[in-house]
Amino acid sequence: MKKCDICDKSGKVQYRVKSIEYKNWIFCCKVCWKTISKHEKYFYGGTRKSS
Ligand SMILES: [Zn+2]
Repeated sequence: MKKCDICDKSGKVQYRVKSIEYKNWIFCCKVCWKTISKHEKYFYGGTRKSS
């Protein structure tokens, strides 16, 4: 399993996102994704799944 770049929790699914606060692409968990999706200049770049 991969870790969330923000909260360091590991999980099977991560979301590739960036926003005004994260100018480079990061991978985050669902909880952090909900926060980031409210940021300005939020972009969604796909989903990563690990088996
Ligand atoms: Zn997280």
